[in-house]
Amino acid sequence: MKKKGILAVISGFSGAGKGTLIKELLQRHGEQYALSVSATTRSPRAGEEHGREYFFVSKEAFEQMIGEDALIEHACYVGNYYGTPKSYVEEQMEAGRDVILEIEIQGARKVKEKFPDTLLLFVTPPSAAELESRLRGRGTETDEVIRSRLKRAAEEAEFMEDYDYILVNDDLDTCVREMHELIQTQHFRTCSSLERIARIKEELRCL
Ligand code: ADP
Ligand code: 5GP
Repeated sequence: MKKKGILAVISGFSGAGKGTLIKELLQRHGEQYALSVSATTRSPRAGEEHGREYFFVSKEAFEQMIGEDALIEHACYVGNYYGTPKSYVEEQMEAGRDVILEIEIQGARKVKEKFPDTLLLFVTPPSAAELESRLRGRGTETDEVIRSRLKRAAEEAEFMEDYDYILVNDDLDTCVREMHELIQTQHFRTCSSLERIARIKEELRCL
């Protein structure tokens, strides 16, 4: 039986280190994973490329994607639209790769509703002070945006319990290893093995 890829959602406060962790995960195990590239209406940061970090699109183009049912989910985050294109995710899962969605909590909930066997991981830094220091240290947002993101983090913290696992991103190397192990363990969960269970039941009936 061909192994199908699973869906793993990585959420977490802005500045927690999600992007850094995922980049490292892909460097170490690139053949096993596919990272979904989202569409967004926010402006690119210095160094970000269209089609690599995001598909940077206008509000009109984004709304057209919604109208054409081209997104698995979409959400508004601190004044901008973000959404997951459907076709790439489906192709990669069929090809047996585990697909990483780096998305916020509203999107995570929608994905879980559509695909109940999705693994939900939440990344947090060891403390709120460390979060603020990482967000400021990254130097990519204005003070006003940083404040909005920290306010949003306090709201998001209310939903941490909805996730399957909490990953503390203190030491990067440890956290990448833990992330990889948790995703690979998901392949053995009953919910990811329903086809296999059905087949063995049928085979046993026919003995
Ligand atoms: P996110 O994608 O969650 O918004 P980033 O990956 O952009 O966060 O990380 C935010 C900042 O924190 C970056 O400057 C990054 O280099 C730094 N960072 C990430 N992980 C760690 C870590 N384990 N220890 C110290 N700094 C980190
Ligand atoms: P950033 O602007 O820092 O790149 O991302 C802001 C937030 O949007 C992060 O929490 C990130 O996980 C989330 N995000 C990125 N892409 C998507 C997406 O396709 N859907 C949803 N729902 N959230 C996304």
